[in-house]
Amino acid sequence: MEQLQWEVRYLEPPKILRHCKKCGKKTEYASSGLFRVNAQQKSLDIWLIYRCTTCKSTWNLTIYSRINPKSIESRLLDKFLANDSELATEYAMNSDLLKRNGAEPQVSPYQIVGDDLDLTKNAELKIVCEHPSSLTVEKILREKLLLTRRELESRVSSGTIRLADGGNIRRAKLKQEVTVLLGTG
Ligand SMILES: [Zn+2]
Repeated sequence: MEQLQWEVRYLEPPKILRHCKKCGKKTEYASSGLFRVNAQQKSLDIWLIYRCTTCKSTWNLTIYSRINPKSIESRLLDKFLANDSELATEYAMNSDLLKRNGAEPQVSPYQIVGDDLDLTKNAELKIVCEHPSSLTVEKILREKLLLTRRELESRVSSGTIRLADGGNIRRAKLKQEVTVLLGTG
């Protein structure tokens, strides 16, 4: 069986939905890429600063709260102090951290990179994504294979598109790795 791989790559960190006091409603906040570090002798706080995309009000995503300053490596602390952009992106992509902070991450713009697929042949397709989100496996399949909802549904119903682990593909969200079987083999 042919083995293929696709990778879903996000082009930017997700915006998040939260209530903005100034706007008086739920709005989208985007990461500013800037950290705020509050270092005292015995306690260290670090946040990633978000801004409301409408009114620029700020909201701080807690990364560390009241930790012992000695518990953090000085090289890492330097990166926070220098607003290291890779580090900021890493935190802004961390959907578990966002959810723990009560933020609702939205789906970022993304690209699907990978082999073209011949639907007349049997294949094992691995879909990988470094940062899982609420994107569904079906949406990725439809977009990359240029199938309509109905066309995909008919292949799912007939079992010619299915999850390798036997799970329900209609409900499957993108994880770090999902394997899909195509064809009758
Ligand atoms: Zn606002």
